[in-house]
Amino acid sequence: MPPDRSLADRVIAGDPRAVARAISLVEAEGPEAASLVRRLFGQTGRATLIGVTGAPGTGKSTLVDRLIGVIRRNERRVGVLAVDPTSPFSGGAMLGDRVRMSGHGADPGVFIRSMATRGQLGGLSRTTADAAIVLDAAGMEVVLVETVGVGQDEVEIAATADVTIVLLAPGGGDELQALKAGVMEIGDLFVVNKADLPGADRAVQAVAASLALREPGRGDWQPPVLRTAAVSGSGVDELWREIERFVDWSALRRRTRRRTREGARLRDLLARRFLRHVDEVLADGTFARAVDAVSARELDPYSAVADLMEQAISRRSGSDRQ
Ligand code: GDP
Repeated sequence: MPPDRSLADRVIAGDPRAVARAISLVEAEGPEAASLVRRLFGQTGRATLIGVTGAPGTGKSTLVDRLIGVIRRNERRVGVLAVDPTSPFSGGAMLGDRVRMSGHGADPGVFIRSMATRGQLGGLSRTTADAAIVLDAAGMEVVLVETVGVGQDEVEIAATADVTIVLLAPGGGDELQALKAGVMEIGDLFVVNKADLPGADRAVQAVAASLALREPGRGDWQPPVLRTAAVSGSGVDELWREIERFVDWSALRRRTRRRTREGARLRDLLARRFLRHVDEVLADGTFARAVDAVSARELDPYSAVADLMEQAISRRSGSDRQ
């Protein structure tokens, strides 16, 4: 059943319960989510998406809470999506703790939500993108997307934001970890958090050294390496100023960046839709027969796929008109 029209209207009016329900629908990835996004999409495109990525324990949640403070001082509404691929919980137990700890739980201008993986390839980036649409439609002017920069999925999520912040902490070889995951390539700003601890200078130098090796390709933007101590809030105002400086600088490029993001999303949705179509129209035994033929070495997989492709394209399925 499609969601009633009033859910989309309530999201647009900024009702936090409607936003929470809408994100749950989006996480379920059903047809309800598609029709909801359809209704909301025209109201979006205004929010600035800020990705914050870093290894576990570098201080992402502490820093995000500080950033919420700065954003609220500027009287802008903010949504937070905490993407945790290691957690089986979404919107549940973990989030409760998070909101209690943040001190922003009672503020109607702040909406915090956790997103967990459901084990599907690409599922997390899909649902996070849709959740960001919900928050954007609800009038959140800034959407912070916090991800653990270890998996490909999360790196991709961060990379598609309007601004990407890579967070590191002194010691523990974090600098190298970040390099391994390809995270250095996606940062517009680098932050060495826990600057109150020994080793911060070394970490800043290590980041600067690896940035010097990075492929150019970002025009004349030289990613700054900043220091923060999120526990005390030191350096956070400067970080916000740098974020704004990047947003101003990249205003012209943002259109290209968003176009790239939408292109990737369309390809992903199209691939999923096509596979669903294939599953439906070839379920009459056509697919199974091809599998049998390949298993028996009567047919090679390339010829089988070429044949299946042709058949799938020429047939229509019941859900094609959805
Ligand atoms: P996350 O896993 O990246 O979200 O990291 P958290 O924000 O949960 O922080 C991990 C731990 O580091 C917590 O115990 C924080 O209190 C601590 N922490 C965060 N920021 C700082 C900082 O600037 N200095 C110090 N000394 N500890 C910090």
